[in-house]
Amino acid sequence: MNKPLILVVEDDAAVRNLITTTLETQSYRFLTAPNGETAILEAVSHNPDIVLLDLGLPDIDGVDVIKKIRSWSAMPIIVISARSEDTDKIDALDAGADDYLTKPFSVEELLARLRVTLRRLGTATSPVQESVFENGALKIDYAAGCAYMDGEELHLTPIEYKLFCLLARNVGKVLTHTYITKEIWGSSWDSDVASLRVFMASLRKKIEKNSDAPQYIQTHIGVGYRMVKL
Ligand code: CA
Repeated sequence: MNKPLILVVEDDAAVRNLITTTLETQSYRFLTAPNGETAILEAVSHNPDIVLLDLGLPDIDGVDVIKKIRSWSAMPIIVISARSEDTDKIDALDAGADDYLTKPFSVEELLARLRVTLRRLGTATSPVQESVFENGALKIDYAAGCAYMDGEELHLTPIEYKLFCLLARNVGKVLTHTYITKEIWGSSWDSDVASLRVFMASLRKKIEKNSDAPQYIQTHIGVGYRMVKL
């Protein structure tokens, strides 16, 4: 089987070298692009498995690169950016990025994100839609419409169940408040985001052993939520 092909989009040569050296240690194959135009061309011609994308590029803004790629491909895009404002992360995620890392980042963290994304890719491309989801002690039987924790059926309200399934279907991926509220309620008003917080708190009470230190659902403050793959 071919090693995954990673497209590294970064204008800073030092950071680009750090990333490609890291990829080499894991025998990943890679391509590089120093700007947005080249990134789009490389993505079109080589169809990489994952794109690692810097947002501050000399020609096109990284968020526009995401939008361009998303107009024809669902290839995973992990943003690596020095922009640490929540709005920048939200813009990138809403444009279709799968995940983000804030610079400076650790090499271990980068490799961990790549592994999670590749694992998700493996499940997403399997021809049969999974009818059962399992993650740690959690289980969802989609056909039966039931969720379980340690084999015990969870008593979830319809919205809690919908929310739980949405996070599970996107395990490992950060979902923004806007994305979640649009999926659940079809809109994204401030009131929907406020309701989301309430439903998330009640869902966590049911699935987390300690809701002050959640194991399954991470909060990305000001951005959204992610279900962690255990
Ligand atoms: Ca840059």
